[in-house]
Amino acid sequence: MAETKTTEKTGLYIHIPFCDHLCYYCNFNKVFIQGQPVDDYLDALLKEIRLTLAKYPRTAISTIYIGGGTPTALSAAQLAKLLGGLHQLIDITDQEFTVEANPNDLLDGTKLPVLREYGVNRLSIGVQSFNDTVLKKIGRTHSAAEAIQAVENAQKIGFENISIDLIYRLPGQDLADFNRSLQQALALNIPHYATYSLILEQKTVFYNLMRRGKLQLPSQDMDADMYQLAMDQFAAHGVDQYEISNFAKSGYQAEHNLIYWHNQHYFGFGAGASGYLGDTRYQNFGPIQQYLKPLTSDQRPVLMSETITPDQQIEEQLFLGLRLNAGVNKAEFKNRFGKDLLVVYPQVIPKLIQQGLLKETPTAYVLTDRGRFVGNDVFADFMLV
Ligand code: SF4
Repeated sequence: MAETKTTEKTGLYIHIPFCDHLCYYCNFNKVFIQGQPVDDYLDALLKEIRLTLAKYPRTAISTIYIGGGTPTALSAAQLAKLLGGLHQLIDITDQEFTVEANPNDLLDGTKLPVLREYGVNRLSIGVQSFNDTVLKKIGRTHSAAEAIQAVENAQKIGFENISIDLIYRLPGQDLADFNRSLQQALALNIPHYATYSLILEQKTVFYNLMRRGKLQLPSQDMDADMYQLAMDQFAAHGVDQYEISNFAKSGYQAEHNLIYWHNQHYFGFGAGASGYLGDTRYQNFGPIQQYLKPLTSDQRPVLMSETITPDQQIEEQLFLGLRLNAGVNKAEFKNRFGKDLLVVYPQVIPKLIQQGLLKETPTAYVLTDRGRFVGNDVFADFMLV
């Protein structure tokens, strides 16, 4: 694996694959926490970080993100063990340090103080909807009131940089209902929101229901209307869209995710996590026992790694960069790949501009509003390999 250049931004992602309930739409790498070797997993995780960072000793960590699963499904003592262990391995100063949380875990006053104490400065809370009936239908175990309470508890203890997720096109949802969720979200006075359309993923309860004809979802047209509504409402409240699914007040864009969208580098630690260092992408073993095993003999739990060719890097730069409202920066592209975008895509770029799907600004190529609705079709045009 080539060593990451220290001049580039490098993020650090840590995966906690445990949940205390399983939502009907979710196909993330996670398991039900009960009966799992959670403490062994945390020991192994810290060992993996130590072994890996020893190979990349001069890499400055720009952002830290603990996701899942549900990191806050860990007990307060387990969170303290993980975060305390991290402080011994990484120089944690004032970089963005995000932890994903479920509302249920922020109600009893035990976990939020631990997160604060160890320097976590950003929370991403999975709210999904503020309608109790919809929440039940998608397998969430918190109520709307508890989600609001969770955000307020976090604010009270000093978290200001909070993001919540909302999903639309959920069963039982209509435009008016989604609008009520949006208005409630906006009333929380937080600086960041992510909103996604429901995707039916294989191996989920919803996917099985759909195959048996037992899942009623809002139509595709309604899906587009909900997305438009979200864009309009966030804009009307001074929360700027900066990525297809992400909206932030000025100064609160998610720095860790920007590392992904700018196709920069990141470590991935934990079961099933992937990382991208130098020109190499790697992925860890996903099943927990398979992840733990190599670490018992001080081996990194890497399932596979591959070299990303220059053409693949160019494609990825386009796919990821076009998700951003700032688009793909022309100078950044030339600096990284040594040639102009137009030289690489002499036909595709003019064609998409002519179709009204792409526009050129003085500094970048950017999806138009119409292009954003058909993003995947546009991305396909930029395939090189
Ligand atoms: S959505 Fe979050 S809480 Fe629900 S099962 Fe997936 S990872 Fe767990």
